[in-house]
Amino acid sequence: QSATPTKRICIVGAGPAGFYAAQLILKQLDNCVVDVVEKLPVPFGLVRFGVAPDHPEVKNVINTFTKTAEHPRLRYFGNISLGTDVSLRELRDRYHAVLLTYGADQDRQLELENEQLDNVISARKFVAWYNGLPGAENLAPDLSGRDVTIVGQGNVAVDVARMLLSPLDALKTTDTTEYALEALSRSQVERVHLVGRRGPLQAAFTIKELREMLKLPNVDTRWRTEDFSGIDMQLDKLQRPRKRLTELMLKSLKEQGRSSGSKQFLPIFLRAPKAIAPGEMEFSVTELQQEAAVPTSSTERLPSHLILRSIGYKSTCVDTGINFDTRRGRVHNIDGRILKDDATGEVDPGLYVAGWLGTGPTGVIVTTMNGAFAVAKTMCDDINTNALDTSSVKPGYDVDGKRVVTWDGWQRINDFESAAGKANGKPREKIVNIEEMLRVAGV
Ligand code: FAD
Repeated sequence: QSATPTKRICIVGAGPAGFYAAQLILKQLDNCVVDVVEKLPVPFGLVRFGVAPDHPEVKNVINTFTKTAEHPRLRYFGNISLGTDVSLRELRDRYHAVLLTYGADQDRQLELENEQLDNVISARKFVAWYNGLPGAENLAPDLSGRDVTIVGQGNVAVDVARMLLSPLDALKTTDTTEYALEALSRSQVERVHLVGRRGPLQAAFTIKELREMLKLPNVDTRWRTEDFSGIDMQLDKLQRPRKRLTELMLKSLKEQGRSSGSKQFLPIFLRAPKAIAPGEMEFSVTELQQEAAVPTSSTERLPSHLILRSIGYKSTCVDTGINFDTRRGRVHNIDGRILKDDATGEVDPGLYVAGWLGTGPTGVIVTTMNGAFAVAKTMCDDINTNALDTSSVKPGYDVDGKRVVTWDGWQRINDFESAAGKANGKPREKIVNIEEMLRVAGV
């Protein structure tokens, strides 16, 4: 009896979804090789380019990903982008199964006039700037004014507020890029408005992030008393995490004014973006109707030297072979199996999606992990039950003539960054230029 050929699986994207899926597949399938194709020379996706620099403990997942990457049956191909360096067709011809986990690297727009003004930028770009995403280094956010307005109240919005209000000394020992530290050292920002359409009971930030804000030295958090009218009466009806968050907001409201920092964090509820003008932003006052924010005829203007839009990330379709749901900004799928035809629900055998590309940009790393494990298990089941034909020999990716960064190449970049960081008292000094990454990797 002839041995079954090696099952070849390709994962596109080396973020949390890609690594967690690879971990499970390598554990469950003996006779397989997993190739990870990543657009950038460096791995880890939003763990490197999203997670805030002052949350180093969150980045510990990198240790698990590194163990997975060092598995003898995993190969890493950095600097290879689906849609430009390689097509989905080619990957499908060369692998028994392909899993797309290329994330969400665009952002949603407010769709307001003047949104293209220089002083309106997305939180995504701002995050990419301080985290050293190649291409984001020239953003030059204008920090010369006193007031910043962040539209949106999720944890990304709070990360950005914290980066703007933190004392510089606290950031100097993180892996914040040097150019961002230099720009932040000249920042004149004193007041950060964090504006949401709905009320305190719908606030999207979580308690850990709020606690951190409340502890920032030299920063006063000021709530609007009117936003909280009647809120304490509803406490008993709330689920535990929501109840604890609301109690913390009420406690902070009660204590406000007792300290006086020179900077202010100003959460503002029940305001929907209406218009943008130089130096200010106009909001409609909203009313809640069954938890939905409905604009009234009243408006309010907030001084806003810089406006940061933080209303969500968005995936894009990078290859015409992908059945992409443009409206929802994700790939059409059922439980990770990509649909060939979304009207009939017929799946495309051997093609899968996980992570933010499949679910939309929600949830933390643990959410992404659980989803990726579930999709990886589906893939293994499909292979083990022969729902997927793996009888033919597949060659895997042809690196010929391509400037590929291997895992060893990434290790060289990692060592270089760690050494450069040590010299500055930081965990790492990130290289932000692709050519320099390639040079250090020896490609
Ligand atoms: P990603 O992490 O985006 O990974 C996708 C990978 O695909 C990237 O490496 C990308 O370069 C690559 N790629 C893109 N296009 C291509 C292509 N064409 N070809 C090949 N590769 C491609 N979660 C927490 O638990 N704690 C936090 O503190 C936290 N902070 C966050 C802060 C921010 C600003 C953001 C945006 C998210 C944060 N999250 C946090 C959430 C967490 O980052 C996500 O849950 C997780 O990264 C999603 O994983 P993913 O693999 O789907 O996508």
